[in-house]
Amino acid sequence: MRITYACPACHATATRDGVESLPALECPACGTKVAVPSDAFAAGTPPRLRRCLVCPSTELFVRKDFPQRVGLGIVVAGLAASCVAWAFRELVITFGILFGTALVDVVLYLVMPDCLSCYRCGARYRGAGGGFGGFDLETHEKHRQQAARLRAGAHHGP
Ligand SMILES: [Zn+2]
Ligand SMILES: [Zn+2]
Repeated sequence: MRITYACPACHATATRDGVESLPALECPACGTKVAVPSDAFAAGTPPRLRRCLVCPSTELFVRKDFPQRVGLGIVVAGLAASCVAWAFRELVITFGILFGTALVDVVLYLVMPDCLSCYRCGARYRGAGGGFGGFDLETHEKHRQQAARLRAGAHHGP
């Protein structure tokens, strides 16, 4: 299982492989260690993630492990190519390119594996197994408001 998370101390993005056998996550930038909770994994092969290892919230959601930059790059490249074809009055090729790039995007999205993401801290897990649902706006709002309250509390004191 691989985790990609933002270090709570220095906010650097860290990636760790094989987290199910690690006692703690160590930040490669500042060395801060986040202990992995002992109940973080459900037994099985492969072990299934039960809670976020960083915050450690139990609310995670399934999303596609699709790099948005790649998707956007394909669309932009397709648009540029279709503009060139359009300039040469190649109507069929123009629409062929537009349709083709849309299709490539859809196919890429379908073949991309799922990953888990934490509502609270945004950590992402690859190969973490099932047991969680898709994105839920209400849960997202709850965590967003909690974070806002925490910030306000830290500011004014208890
Ligand atoms: Zn760090
Ligand atoms: Zn988290």
